[in-house]
Amino acid sequence: MDTNVDSPSSEAAGLNTSSSAVLGGVGVASSSSTSTPSPSRYEAQKRRDWNTFGQYLKNHRPPLSLSRCSGAHVLEFLRYLDQFGKTKVHTQMCPFFGHPNPPAPCPCPLRQAWGSLDALIGRLRAAYEENGGKPEANPFGTRAVRLYLREVRELQAKARGISYEKKKRKKPSQGVGNQGHPPHTSSAGAS
Ligand SMILES: [Zn+2]
Repeated sequence: MDTNVDSPSSEAAGLNTSSSAVLGGVGVASSSSTSTPSPSRYEAQKRRDWNTFGQYLKNHRPPLSLSRCSGAHVLEFLRYLDQFGKTKVHTQMCPFFGHPNPPAPCPCPLRQAWGSLDALIGRLRAAYEENGGKPEANPFGTRAVRLYLREVRELQAKARGISYEKKKRKKPSQGVGNQGHPPHTSSAGAS
């Protein structure tokens, strides 16, 4: 008895390729008609973030207008987002505190990763000014927000055992290896 293996899926894959050209076309009619047809990922994400924040302001009690939005409100927003986070941040009581790869589950809360928040604030900060906000009044650029992000970074670095500083800057891969003398650890004394 043979197993009936037909239905070659590779053939079907060639059928609908023509539709892929439409993927980039976003039907949002904005004021700028001559902009590029397919916004970059960053631009799309920025617009989504901006809408999310607008939605947050709308649902805020008491209602909050963008012009009256302060750094404190931005912090409120960031804390609100934590409930949708997917990054486990261990409490100090947790046996896995400081472990990058815990061997078992634990009841510690899920949070927004610092890197996500940092990138989000960067996008919202840009979006604020693109939507007519004054740079000097930008709530996303306030000291309180910067301090909060730094605090989150340090806390998560400790809790997760991951150094964000190290990840940020990598050695230039294409650089010539002549920047300073290498340590004499691997001196193959052949002679
Ligand atoms: Zn934990």
